[in-house]
Amino acid sequence: MKTIRIIAILLSLILCIGAFGCKAQTQEPTAEPTAAPEATAEPEPTAEPDADLPEVDLGEYRLEKSDSNTYAYVVRTPHATWHLAAADIELLGEEMFFEGLERLLENQEADFTDAIAMLDGYLDDVPVIDIYTDFSGRTEKAKLGAYGAYCRWNVPCIEIYQPDMAFTELLHEYAHYLTHCCMRYEIDGDFWSEAIAEYVSKFICKNRMFCSAYSEDGRTALAARGFANQDGDPDIRKMYCAAAAAIRDGSMIGQTFSAVSQAPVQMTERMLEHPTLTTLSYYEAGCFFDWLVERYGKELVFANMTIGQGEFREVFGEDFETLFFEWAADNQAFCTENGLKLIGSED
Ligand SMILES: [Zn+2]
Repeated sequence: MKTIRIIAILLSLILCIGAFGCKAQTQEPTAEPTAAPEATAEPEPTAEPDADLPEVDLGEYRLEKSDSNTYAYVVRTPHATWHLAAADIELLGEEMFFEGLERLLENQEADFTDAIAMLDGYLDDVPVIDIYTDFSGRTEKAKLGAYGAYCRWNVPCIEIYQPDMAFTELLHEYAHYLTHCCMRYEIDGDFWSEAIAEYVSKFICKNRMFCSAYSEDGRTALAARGFANQDGDPDIRKMYCAAAAAIRDGSMIGQTFSAVSQAPVQMTERMLEHPTLTTLSYYEAGCFFDWLVERYGKELVFANMTIGQGEFREVFGEDFETLFFEWAADNQAFCTENGLKLIGSED
C-alpha cells in the first residue's frame, strides 16, 4: 500500500534518521546479553551497587535496574520515566539502543518543558509520564500504519513502536498526553486530538528531537529550499505548511494516506472539493488548527475542541468548508511568498 507520499517526499528528501537506530530493521540481535562489567571502584553510599548495569553514557541521567522481567532498565528524567525493554535492547544491540536513547534524552526534557509552557494556563498538574520502548514485534506492524508511537491516555503512558520514528513522533505523543490527561478542556478524538497534538509538536514548539534527526546534508538541503529558520535549524512549521499546500493542490489524488481518524483513506477529487474533519491529513489538520488559533485565539478554540463539523458556524461564525478554504488560500499565499515548495518527485 502506498502511504503518505508527501511524507515520503519530505522525509526521504531530508531526514537521515539516526537512531534509536537507523539500522534497526537489519541489525541482527546481539549474541551476548551483556556480560556484567567489572564493579566500579567507588562504593555508592546509598544506592544498590551498579555492577551489573551496562556502561552507558546518558548525559545527566542514570540507568537503573528494573524489577520487571520485560523492562530491564529504567531511566528517570524530571518529566518522564523510561522503561527499556530487554528484547528491544537485544534487537538493536546495546550500543545502538543506548546511543539512540542518549540522543533522544539530550532534547526530550527541553521539548517536554516547552510543550508544557506553550499550554500554560490550560493545564492542571502534569505528572511524570511513563514511556515504554516496544519495538520487538511492533515495528513491522507500526510501519504499515503511519505511526511509530502511541499515547494511551487512559493509562496513561506512551509506547514507542518504531525506533527511527521516536525522534519525529515523541513530542506529538507527549502533546496527546498533555491535552488528554492534563488539560482543563475536553477534547474529542480524531480531528481535534490530532490537530492540537500537531499544533503543539510541529507548529509552536521548537521540537529539538525532530530537528536532531536531520543530518548535516539534510539541513543544507532544507535550507536551500527555504525550510530552515534563522538559526539554520529545520523549520518544521514551514515544512508542514508546504505539505498541506501540496495536498490541497491535488498532488495526492488517488493515493492512500492515514487521515486523522487513523483510518487509511484514499484521496479523491471530491475530498478536495468537500473536505471533512475526519478525512484530513495530519498536515492539514495541524495547519488549519494553527490558523484557527491565530484568527480566533486559543481561548475560543481550546474551549470548543469537541464540536463537530456542523457546529463551526455557531462557534466561529462561518461554516467549516468556508473557513477551511480560507485557510487553504492563506496557506498557499504563505507558501508562495516564502518560496516553499515540495519537490514533486515520483515513486
Ligand atoms: Zn496522534
